[in-house]
This record gives sequence, structure tokens and C-alpha cells, in this order.
Amino acid sequence: MVPKDFIREIIDEDNASGRFDGRIHTRFPPEPNGYLHIGHAKSICLNFGIAGEYGGKCNLRFDDTNPAKEEEEYVSSIKDNVRWLGFDWEERLYFASDYFEQMYKWAVDLIKKGKAYVDDHTADEISRMRGSLTAPGIESEYRNRSTEENLELFERMRKGEFRDAEKVLRARIDMSHPNMNMRDPVMYRILHSTHHNTGDEWCIYPMYDWAHGLEDSIEGITHSICTLEFENHRPLYDWFLDELEIYHPQQIEFARLNLTYTVMSKRKLLELVRKKLVSGWDDPRMPTISGMRRRGYSPASIRDFCSRIGVAKINSTIAIETLEHAVREDLNRTSPRYMGVLDPLLMRIENYEGEDEMDVINNPEDPSAGRRKVPFSGEVYVEREDFMEDPPPKFYRLAPGREVRLRNAYLVTCTNVVKDGSEVKEIVCKVDPASRGGDAPDGRKVRSTLHWVSAKHAIDAEVRQYDKLFTVEDPLSMPGDFTEYIDHDSLKVLKGCKVEQIVGKLPHLSRFQFERLGYFCIDPDSDPDRLVINRTITLRDTWAKVKGK
Ligand code: ATP
Ligand code: MG
Repeated sequence: MVPKDFIREIIDEDNASGRFDGRIHTRFPPEPNGYLHIGHAKSICLNFGIAGEYGGKCNLRFDDTNPAKEEEEYVSSIKDNVRWLGFDWEERLYFASDYFEQMYKWAVDLIKKGKAYVDDHTADEISRMRGSLTAPGIESEYRNRSTEENLELFERMRKGEFRDAEKVLRARIDMSHPNMNMRDPVMYRILHSTHHNTGDEWCIYPMYDWAHGLEDSIEGITHSICTLEFENHRPLYDWFLDELEIYHPQQIEFARLNLTYTVMSKRKLLELVRKKLVSGWDDPRMPTISGMRRRGYSPASIRDFCSRIGVAKINSTIAIETLEHAVREDLNRTSPRYMGVLDPLLMRIENYEGEDEMDVINNPEDPSAGRRKVPFSGEVYVEREDFMEDPPPKFYRLAPGREVRLRNAYLVTCTNVVKDGSEVKEIVCKVDPASRGGDAPDGRKVRSTLHWVSAKHAIDAEVRQYDKLFTVEDPLSMPGDFTEYIDHDSLKVLKGCKVEQIVGKLPHLSRFQFERLGYFCIDPDSDPDRLVINRTITLRDTWAKVKGK
């Protein structure tokens, strides 16, 4: 059995001690200020996964406490992404902004207890007065305002009587606390800004540390799982809940996901979008869930990846190949096989007339995928790189005088090469009519199997091939700006590719394998007049496939 991770161990202990009466209630709390990325997928799989395993619940909660950066578009993309990943929040869709009134009341409670005060200093001054790890902070001269004055000023803050940043509400804790987060942190700031949910109702907005524990408490969350950088915010999370004497969830921190060749911060991803360095949030090279979906990654492969990497208490970086491995494994199991030729070279079969239909297995890994008929004729396209006029010793594919197999069709031998100057225009072959289906009756072996499409039955496609977006493993650690490390060859567009007709009938985002080439999917840019295909990922080992029939 796979050992349980430390979070599930904590939950088991809480269940054993009856701490939350055996309840398990988690939440996924994105801030709607960008599209979700693969790091969020880890958090989604963890929170929804735990709820599922323990018969608990998981809320989807938008942590929309910051009006300036949040947009409706992000809310709908996040919902869409969570659903696509295969998770269901049922009726539990919440917005932190719906709790603003309750939060305000609790802030008033803290003021009445002498635990919060209105400060007239600016954010810069407050941060300068916070001290350092080695020096205590300086107490603000407004720290000892009377409760009455604080209540009055806070109410006037809410009413909009002050300008942005003119005043803040701070918790009154300890300016020489060894944990800097406890040095009278800001709870509310003034922002005259329209909020996507509450409109212009509020002009004071709660800070994350103040708001988050309250949101968890209101929703009856048992285990509030977040990333490691919040570990030293936990004393503050606990302090607010303890001072208010309200229901108190357990915050647990785990290591965030980092991936090689990837930046994983919404702010950086937004920069790529804004500067048009990618085509959008769903550019297939983006580490966003929308990008991966468009690229052809399956939800199952992302879930599998998240469960493989597990959760830990120490930050580390996972190789992008680990994700690609999970993608290949799932696509290998689930993708129907078709044939497509990316760089077509015409092969004329001199002794073949008419047409035929070859009977083909759709997916050798999945018998339930059935079979299909693939049209064959005397002119087929093969991959230009599968032919060499003057092959070096280890090239086993087609060459003059050599016999190869056209997959699921016939054995053919190259008899002639038609050239235009140095360029090969077409190749002429002879078929062994007794090898229909792809095997010689005398059992003779050929060393190579090629994919092909019948020329008159093929349709044109544009194929987009993607590579890693960055040229270096950790773009953010490099000198200069991270965008300098973008690989401008990471998108290659191939036009005039020839593919089986059936591929043109697939719905958007359908995933499939092109034999010998890799996994692909139909790009949403496709329409009835134009077929656009994304290459999701190459096959692990092209040669392993070539050996078989
Ligand atoms: P970013 O830095 O990309 O903006 P964030 O943490 O600010 O991410 P939120 O929308 O606040 O993004 O995050 C929602 C949830 O997803 C949080 O619980 C957060 O801890 C988690 N999360 C974000 N990034 C990662 C990551 N790389 N690995 C695991 N969990 C993550
Ligand atoms: Mg954030």
C-alpha cells in the first residue's frame, strides 16, 4: 500500500480523536485574478481528492477580496477548469465577498476588545516601521486611540469619507513579535474601486490574512490546506480566530508545485498574455489548465500526475518529463489511432489499380475501441523523412530497391524515384498483391513499417507542433527578464499535412494518436473549411512503434 502523506495522517489523527466530529470539509480558494495553472491542479486534486476519499465535502470559494485585479472572465474559466478536471463542488460555490458584512462586524468586535485600531500611516510608512528580523518594530502613534475614536473612524472609512490609502485598520498585537506577520498587520485598506460581485457597496477591502481564516470559519472548513509560504502566517490565522472566539479550522501547509521549464505565477503568466508572447491564456504552451486542455492533455493524466508527485513539506521542482510521462501513459490507453502525414511525399504504386478498404484496429490497447475501414489506392502519401535515396547504414526505412510495409496495407518495394533537380518529387513502388493486410504469405520480414494516407482520400490539415516555452529550466532564476528566455521556435506550424478523412469529422479537442508520430488533438480554431491539429506530445519512443506492424 502507498504510505499516506502527512496531510492524510493529520486527518486520520483528527478523525481518531473526534476533533471535528469525524467531519472532513476542505476548500479550493482561488483568487479570480488569472487562469488556473498546473500548480492549482495539484491543490484542486488534493482538496477535492481528500474530500472524496473521506466522504467529506470540498467547497469552491473565490477569494475575491481584491477588487482591482479580479474579473468575471476568470471566475468562469476557473469553474470550467475545475469541472473539466473532474471535480464537483455541488451547491457549494462561494464568494469571499459575500462575507464582507460579517467580516466588518468581526472587525468591530476586535476594535471593541482593544485588539484593532485605525492607523493614519501610509503603507510605506507602516512597512518601514515594522522593523526587521533582528530589530523590533516601532509602535504607531495612533496605536493607542480610544475604542470610541477607532469605532468612529472605522465606520467613516466604510462610508467612504477618506481617500484611498489615507487610513488602514490594523490588528493590535505586538510590534516586537519575533514573527513579523504578528507586528500589527493591516486588516483593511481603503480602495475606491468597483468589485465584480459587490459593485460599489464597499470601499474598504479586507487583507488576505484577516479574511482567509474567517472565510474558512464561516464555511465550517475542517482542514484549510495551503502552500508553505503561509506557514508563518498560521500564528496570525490562529490569533484572529482565537480573539474572535469563533469556530477554528486547522491550517495545514504543503509544498507548492514547481515544474522545470515553466513559470507558475499568475502574474507572470498574465505578463505573457498581455505582451502577446503567447496567443492567450489557453495557448497550448502555457502551463494553464486551459492551455493543457487545448494542447490535448487529458484530465485523467493531470490527476494521475498530481497523485504521483504526492504532497510534501519541502519545496522541490518536478521535471516536466514526469508530467509528460503521465500524459503519454493515459493517451496511450485511451487514444484511437489514425494516420496522418506531416510532410507528404507522393508514392505511386505502379502495379495497383482501383481502390480498397483496409480493416484496421482503432486502438490495440483498448479492444472496445473497435475497428475501422481505411481507404487505400494506387497513390498514397508517405512521410518524406521515411525515404532516402542514398541511405546511411542504420536507415532501415524506404530506399530504392528496398521493401517496407505500409501499415495495415501491403508490402511495397521502391522501383523508381522521380526528381526535379535534387528534390525528390515522387517515388514509384511495386506492391506484393499477396501481402494484403500487411504480411507476406511466405512470412518474409521487412525491417520497417510506414504510415500513409491514400492521396485521393486524404484531407489537408494544419498541424501545430509545440515545444517547451522556455529554453532554460528555471527562467525566473536567470539574469535579466524571464521573457528573454522564451523559445521563439516553440511553435512550429506545418501546412499542407495530409490526414485521414475521419480526422476531419472529429469534434474540437478530440484526442488521438497519429501512428508513429505522437498524440494530437483537434484545435478549436478548426472549422468545416479548415482543419487545425495540435501535436500534444511525441511518442516516447518512435522506433519501438516502427518495429511492430
Ligand atoms: P499564483 O502565485 O500563481 O498567483 P496563488 O497562490 O496566488 O498563485 P491562488 O488563486 O491564491 O493563487 O491559489 C488558490 C490555491 O491554489 C491556494 O490554496 C494556493 O495555495 C494553491 N496553489 C497556487 N499555486 C500552487 C502551486 N504552485 N502548487 C500547489 N498549490 C498551489
Ligand atoms: Mg495570489
